[in-house]
Amino acid sequence: MYNRRKFIESAAALGIIGLLPSAVLAGTKSTLNNSESPPLPIILSTWSHGIAANAESMRILENGGTVVDAVEKGVMIPEADPNNRSVGLGGFPDRDGKVTLDASIMDQHGNAGGVCFLEDIVHPISVARKVMEETPHVLLAGDGALQFALENGFKRENLLTPESEKAWLKMIMEKNYEPRINWEEKHNELHDTIGLLAISQSADIAGACTTSGLGGKIRGRVGDSPIIGAGLFVDNEIGAATATGMGELVMKTLGSFLVVEFMRNGASPQEACEKAILRIVDKVNGYAKYQIGFIALNKKGEIGAYSLQPGFNYALYANGKNVLINADSYFPK
Ligand code: ASP
Repeated sequence: MYNRRKFIESAAALGIIGLLPSAVLAGTKSTLNNSESPPLPIILSTWSHGIAANAESMRILENGGTVVDAVEKGVMIPEADPNNRSVGLGGFPDRDGKVTLDASIMDQHGNAGGVCFLEDIVHPISVARKVMEETPHVLLAGDGALQFALENGFKRENLLTPESEKAWLKMIMEKNYEPRINWEEKHNELHDTIGLLAISQSADIAGACTTSGLGGKIRGRVGDSPIIGAGLFVDNEIGAATATGMGELVMKTLGSFLVVEFMRNGASPQEACEKAILRIVDKVNGYAKYQIGFIALNKKGEIGAYSLQPGFNYALYANGKNVLINADSYFPK
């Protein structure tokens, strides 16, 4: 397994398997010593937009918010950012020029909610939370999800910013509808979900995942992010995981559930993420064309991250520091 040895050496040096191996490699210093468990709370999220999301999440926890408040409010930051091409407002549209959003949320009691193929609402994560808390259902889709949002006071807004429209027109001109991989810098704007996991001071775990999905997707396409067990899974007794990348590969392997099940069976979060990537390699045809990244944390606050292709990074807020870390990957750089 690529980088396995490097990972084990780094983790061993820290004394904490699964915590910050890449941070050490990237020169980010851990303040943990060998005998300590990482102090809680800890926030972990995908990609560089995770830094601002983590900061908001931590602020919510420090001000007495619940862990589910923390994950919701955290991911609302990239959702509202018009410059973020892959989440919420300004998200890259589908093939027909419509921004359609997917989101899911789970709390520490095993409750879950999601919305998919939702249009015109800046904060799908908050609609997902309403589905979780105020309906007997888990997932609402399309027009029904929009109707539910409007009935619950959400405002209708055009999510297609001039910049996202320009990017869409360019894609149309190029007639390039190929789903793109996101490990190359220039493709980063096409799909980069934010998945955010938090463990509170009292070791309660929640997670949120929100995205505009794959840029240029066929209208009606729904990815892994709103599907509980695929893009997100939380079991408060074990840990949590979330995914980013080409959602179809994650859906075919129920990736986030799989990561949590590996942890249930004794794997560290790092090992669990690696095993879930290997499952994709073993089972999904054509995997080598795509990027997938997983992040995970367990009940002890140990964390893990791993991707199929190089280029995946994640934001970790622990020990008072909020840092961006390059994940190890199955394929070498
Ligand atoms: N997983 C998302 C999807 O397939 C996109 C991403 O994370 O890049 O919709």
